Formats: sequence, structure tokens, C-alpha cells
Amino acid sequence: MQYSIATVCLSGTLRQKIEAIAKAGFQGIEIFENDLITHDGSLSELRKLLADHGLKVLVYQPFRDFEGMPEPLRSRGFARAEQKFELMQEIGTDLLMICSNVSPKAIGGIQRAAEDLFELTELAAKQGLRVAYEALSWGQHVNDYRDSWEIVRRANHPSLGLTLDTFHIFSRQTELDSIVNIPGDRIFLVQVADAPQLTMDPLSWSRHHRCFPGQGELDLQAFMERLRATGFDGPFSLEIFNDQFRASDPFRHARDAYRSLVYMAQETEPSSKVMTKSRDLPKVAQPTGMDFIEFAVDESEHQQLTGFLQKTGFAHVATHKVKQVELWQQGGIRLVINRESQSFAQRYHTEHGLSVCAYGLSCPDVPGLLERATKLGYQIEYADPEHDTHGIAAITGPTGALLYLVDANDPSPHWEREFIYHAVDPNSYLSRVDHVATTLPLDQVLEATLLYRSLFQMQASPSVSLPDPLGLVKSQVMEVTDRSLAMTLNSTLAEKTVVGQIQSRYRGSGVNHIALETSDIFALAKYLEQQGTEVMEVTGHYYDDLAPRFGLSAELIAQLRTHHILYDEDEHGCFYQLYTRLFEKRFCFEFVQRAGYRGYGAPNAQIRLTMQARELEQM
Ligand code: MG
Ligand code: MG
Repeated sequence: MQYSIATVCLSGTLRQKIEAIAKAGFQGIEIFENDLITHDGSLSELRKLLADHGLKVLVYQPFRDFEGMPEPLRSRGFARAEQKFELMQEIGTDLLMICSNVSPKAIGGIQRAAEDLFELTELAAKQGLRVAYEALSWGQHVNDYRDSWEIVRRANHPSLGLTLDTFHIFSRQTELDSIVNIPGDRIFLVQVADAPQLTMDPLSWSRHHRCFPGQGELDLQAFMERLRATGFDGPFSLEIFNDQFRASDPFRHARDAYRSLVYMAQETEPSSKVMTKSRDLPKVAQPTGMDFIEFAVDESEHQQLTGFLQKTGFAHVATHKVKQVELWQQGGIRLVINRESQSFAQRYHTEHGLSVCAYGLSCPDVPGLLERATKLGYQIEYADPEHDTHGIAAITGPTGALLYLVDANDPSPHWEREFIYHAVDPNSYLSRVDHVATTLPLDQVLEATLLYRSLFQMQASPSVSLPDPLGLVKSQVMEVTDRSLAMTLNSTLAEKTVVGQIQSRYRGSGVNHIALETSDIFALAKYLEQQGTEVMEVTGHYYDDLAPRFGLSAELIAQLRTHHILYDEDEHGCFYQLYTRLFEKRFCFEFVQRAGYRGYGAPNAQIRLTMQARELEQM
């Protein structure tokens, strides 16, 4: 398959788009008509520009409202096509994509459409050109790929083929099985797009919400399985209309575009084939947990944060031999506090202030992950040998924080080698990191989703909207299959929401809360009280509502109420949550106890966001 991308996917002028597309590694490009119409250079100059960037124009598109027109519109359609054929030869492409007619003037009829397309293709073929016909999901008469295929089949012209576009197929929930009946060599073009599952008209959904494969919720794997069965080996192209992509850096999005195609095409290959081709993505075991979380702090924040950690049962267990770096621990949770000058942490601190600057992910197959990262085009950061002796490779994560790949099979050598351990005994109320919630600008959520999914093979939950008193917050969970590692991605367009305020405080994205697991939330709550740790308050109405909702005993409700503990249940079990107050208006700890429960307490998000909004007001 030839990887390609439509110019409509990116922001900028046609020149900038071409540059970004070539730089990302593409060799094929679809020129979208509007980009050409608004281009200020000549066609020969454009052709040279494309050649200089090593790009082949695989398709010119779209040609609209052609088939089934009454006269004089029919003749005008042919005249328009002649002009496009000339233009195509000047820019050096042989394939024109025609999408099904959306004009109310169009007359239906499969036979009539086939005849029109045959006649048009005859003209094209005389000039050595080909035509690919696509069923738009909002086409007036043709909106189903099975009908567009029937039209192509009946026209029966060797230069006329079919375009399959995943968005149009999925947006009408058309069955996929008929794809296998189409010969692969009659499919001239495949356009891939992912999208979130939304209930809206296909046109608005398509024009604003498409995203790169791996960022949305369509079952592209099922599509790929059928496509492979046809023997298709032609242009495999991204056609994404997305408001955020059109408003942000084309270079960043072009890189994501390329890796999304690599992921899409190779992840869905049967595994027997993957083993035989060296270019393919190695299958790698998912991460198995969070080995450490590293905070970047200045001197005064160091004091405040370590004081706060002490009050939640953490102990300063080790100090770096040469750097201003401390290791705080409780159970299997390691928190690194970094105030070393000239470090990545301090550079991160300069940009974002007090924040989490790195996460250490426990990875069972680090070499496999490094190879996978390279093939997906993610840059690997090796520690600076001058300053860093830990030797752990990292990937820059979606928030700009580093994601260290810690060897899960041998996780401790760097701690023992680099740190001096102290004779202290931490408490054991908390055992492990349950999940980390981050806030991100909306467009970074898609980048983050692609990274966690394509590199770490984490699964994405459907995104949900959480009501904050001052706006809506979108939240999506990325987790590994056994949920030993989970990150939630929260974003909002509403600046005054808790998420919006935290985002502006970090000047970008950052951690919102770190959830830590306990096996006895009531014992923990009592300990926190003894320590004078301030926890997030909860309204009395919350508990009045909770009792009948889950049929909880009066004693349990009283206990929850006393300690400000939130409660939820799913079909697998129950869940307790206790939040600290926001630290420096930025983040807090969440303490959770699970009894079979598999979620992250989304039904309690509204009360949490409301209470946190109140905290921010009071600070
Ligand atoms: Mg399309
Ligand atoms: Mg949470």
C-alpha cells in the first residue's frame, strides 16, 4: 500500500502543507481542490515543488455533482471535467476522485450513473487518466459503498474504479462484509479516517470531527481485515477534516498522520506476516504499572510538597548521591522530588512551574518498545551522559513530561546505584498508583490518545462529558488491559472550569490528580485526620442522595460522611474515593479503594469538580 495524505488534513498554505507532509515521511499526496484554487503559484511551479519534496500526487479531488444530472447541467459537468483533466496532467497525477452527487437536481438510477461515469472515464482514459468513484454518506441517491460498487461494476471500464472511505461507511453503519466481494484491483483509492462516536448528521460529523486512525472510536480493524481480503494494494490515504488540525501546527499533525497510518496498516496485519517483515511494528507487551512519578520543584515548593507528602504517610527513603533529588516512598509508590539545577526537571519547571515532569512506566520489553517507538516516528530521549547516570530511555509524553521506559524485569538497579538509602520505615496505607489524571488542551488529547494507543497499546474508553459548575470537561481513560496502568485525559474549551484554570496555571498541560490505592480507606482517613491533612469537603446532600441510590446502611453512610469519602458501584463491585485539597491550585491526591470496581468514579466527577471549583475560589 502507498501511504498518502490529503492536503485538507493540515493547516497552512499549500506550500507549508507540502513541506510538512514530505518531512513527516510521506511519498504520496492527495491534492484537495480548494488548496490548489487558493495557491498563488503556477501549476508548473507547484509540480516542481512537489517533485523537490519527493511527493507523488496520487489523487486530485474532489470532483462533485456529476452523475445523473439533467441537461444543461450534464454537459457542463463534462466541460468541468475536461478542465480538471488538463490541470491533472500539469500537476502530474492520473487519478481523479469523483464523489457521489449531492445536488437536489440529480436524478437517481444506478444504470444512468453508470452510463455517465462510463462516458466520463472514456474521455479520461484517452488522456491516460483514471477515475475513482466514492459514495458520500450524504449523497443524494448514492450514499452506500455497495451502490457505488454496483455503478462501477456496471460501467465496466478498466479506468474506472472505486474509492472506499471509512468515514462514509461507518457513519451510516453500513455492513462491512460486502467489501470482501470487491476485487482489490478495482479499488483505486482507500481513504481512512477515524472519528469519535457521535449522534449527529453525517455531514457535520465528517466536516469537523474526523481524526487520524487510532484517535477515534471507529472499528477500523474490522475494515482493514476485509480490505486485506480483497488483495488491495493501492493508495492508502488519510482524509481528515478536523477543526483542531486546521488550527494548529501542520508539522506536528503531519507526523501524527504518518504514524497513524503505520499503526493502522501494520497493527492490523495478521501476526504470522508481521514476523516475516522487518519494517513492521514489533508486538510488545503492555506496560505493567507506574514505577515512579517525578516532580519538578523549586526550594519553597520542595518544602511544602515534602511536608504534604509526610502528612499522607510518605517517607523520604533515599537521596541521590550527587544531585538535589529525593526519593519518597510508600508501599510500591515512588515519588521523585527533583530540584537539581541544570536538569530536565528544572527546565520543565521554568516553563510550567511546580509540576510532574516525568513518569516511569514499568515495561516488560524495553528493547521492543524502543524499536516500536522508532518505527512510529517517536523520538527517543536518551539521558544526557554528562549529567544523568540512570541510563533509562524516555519518550516525550503528550504533556511534554518524559515517559521513562523502566525495565519491569529489573526495576531497581538505578535506584540502588544512584541513591543512598536512609533507615526509615514508611507507612503502608497506600500501595500503588491507580491512575493519573492529566489536563490537556483539546488538540493534544488526540495526540495523547494516539501515543498511548499506538506505542503502549493501551485501550481508550469512550470519552465522556463531565459537568463542571462553569462548563463541560471532556474526559477519556487510556488503560492497559488489566488496568495496572491508567491515565485519564481531561480537556475543556471552558477556561473557568477547574480543568481550564489548572491548565492555565501550568501554562499548558499538566497533572490534575494522582490516584493512589489503599486497602483500607477508613484507616487511611483516620490517619490523615491525625496528621491534620486537609481533605476535599463534600456536601451533605451528596450523602443524602447516596444512601437510597445504592441502598447503603446508615452506619456506612455516616462513616463516608464523616470522612468525606465518595462512593460508587458498577456491576463488578464498589469503589471509595477520598481527595486531598488542591495543592498550590494545581493538583491533588486521590485515594481509592477498589472492591472489584473497574471504573474511575466518573459519576462522582461532578461533585469533585464543584468542590474543587469552590476550593479555587477560596484560595
Ligand atoms: Mg473521502
Ligand atoms: Mg480519578
